[in-house]
Amino acid sequence: IKGQYGKYFAVYDDKLRNELLKDQAITDSMEDALAKEQFLVYLQPKYRIKDENLVGAEALVRWIHPELGFQPPDKFIPLFEKNGFITKLDQYVWDKTCALIKEWDDRGFTPISVSVNVSRADIYNADLADILIKIINKYGLAPSRLHLEITESAYTENPKQIIDTVTHLRELGFIIEMDDFGSGYSSLNMLNEMPIDILKLDMKFIQNETAKPNSQGILQFIIDLARWMHVSVVAEGVETKDQLSRLSEIGCDYVQGYYFARPLPKLEFEKLLSADSRK
Ligand code: C2E
Ligand code: CA
Ligand code: CA
Ligand code: CA
Repeated sequence: IKGQYGKYFAVYDDKLRNELLKDQAITDSMEDALAKEQFLVYLQPKYRIKDENLVGAEALVRWIHPELGFQPPDKFIPLFEKNGFITKLDQYVWDKTCALIKEWDDRGFTPISVSVNVSRADIYNADLADILIKIINKYGLAPSRLHLEITESAYTENPKQIIDTVTHLRELGFIIEMDDFGSGYSSLNMLNEMPIDILKLDMKFIQNETAKPNSQGILQFIIDLARWMHVSVVAEGVETKDQLSRLSEIGCDYVQGYYFARPLPKLEFEKLLSADSRK
């Protein structure tokens, strides 16, 4: 037993050491990666359910690492949230996103708005509004072209601070989306006080919906509540036709999900956008 125990720890140590080394490698190369434009903005189209028109997109970052290869955000975002680099990366993504919106406007595509992720650390940055306005002005866009996705858990963590920040951003004209709604603990009472424009339902909701029939009532209830609050609803993680028809029945406004499209690199997204602009 003693031998096995030792062996177990040896394996565990190796695993831990490898993870730490990998984290260190990521930390050592992140600044350089930003300068060398290794971070790419992918776009996942968002559709209006009513007419299935493309109305927007969510900007999602990817890292094309020279040694580690294609990296999805789960591989580096949590680390960047810990080491603080996320604020820098987010600003980069917002800038690249606005540059894209401007480019598409100039090329005559149907004007769309794009949602960007705003991490918890960004909310606590006193310069957030100034930074966003500076980017918007750099490209001559209306703030409403940029939707700011803030995760539900950030709202519950520090409601007072977030209400102040978000109220200000809305006054400036930005559109606020509450991301991952239903994943956390936002009480209905608090929801009513939240200055938001759009509720983005947590993916697990949609994926449970078809599996567990008793969750259907809850989803309908949330959508009715959103309507009462004059807030529109986006469902993400929609993978099947059944999920789409169900969401349509209960009055959900927009969808995003693999059923329509995965997050796409710029050129592929532009093919969809130009096809839609001809409709
Ligand atoms: P999120 O903001 O909740 O983004 C939605 C995630 O669901 C994306 O994962 C997207 O690719 C995935 N997804 C979309 N449709 C479907 C579907 O039909 N089925 C399934 N199973 N998944 C779907 P992704 O791109 O890997 O991003 C993961 C998370 O990383 C994001 O979750 C977001 O929290 C974070 N993230 C991504 N880009 C950024 C960024 O630029 N800044 C910050 N702060 N966070 C980011
Ligand atoms: Ca999001
Ligand atoms: Ca989400
Ligand atoms: Ca159209």
